[in-house]
Amino acid sequence: MQHFSSADWVDFARGLVSSERKTAIEQHLESGCQQCATSSSFWRGVVEVGRRENGFEPPGEAVTAVKSAYRIEKPASRLLEWADLARLVFDSFLQPSPVAVRAAVQTARQLLHQSGPFTIDLRLEPDSARKCVYLTGQIINNENPSEMADGIDVVLLRRGEQIRKTEAAPSGEFCLDYNPAEDLHLFLNIRGLKGIAIALPSMDR
Ligand SMILES: [Zn+2]
Repeated sequence: MQHFSSADWVDFARGLVSSERKTAIEQHLESGCQQCATSSSFWRGVVEVGRRENGFEPPGEAVTAVKSAYRIEKPASRLLEWADLARLVFDSFLQPSPVAVRAAVQTARQLLHQSGPFTIDLRLEPDSARKCVYLTGQIINNENPSEMADGIDVVLLRRGEQIRKTEAAPSGEFCLDYNPAEDLHLFLNIRGLKGIAIALPSMDR
């Protein structure tokens, strides 16, 4: 069975394929190919996030990079090419602290990430009884604190699948909850400005 490439899925999601190609893709999806169904929904999600409101379009060169690189890597990692991977500058779990204090604060983990002028403050609070993690965060524009983007989409992805999606408040604050897992990425689309990706730590203890 001939599968389709990430480049095809990007074009398909953006409505840029020929009608012949579109039919072929649709027939392939209808045949029940799970691999392609996953790729399709992933790229639809990415394109939809980009389209909302101000119509963020990934720069042409990023799309080219996506198309040339997808053969080697999985679609999920392509999203990270559109976005800058934020740098971790603080992790409360890595701070030396007395055992007693550590035990007391162990319920919540604070992470600070930096990407360009933006600081992203995350607080992860695991609820072991409900097997979920509460994530609260805030994105701050250090260069221009009073001026935030028109909107910020917040998307939680796991291996190319969208798990959660929300929108930051005008203050830059957002919150969501999710089941702990490996390979989680938070993707922040600051509309019209940039995309930021953050690798979330697994909360297994
Ligand atoms: Zn397929």
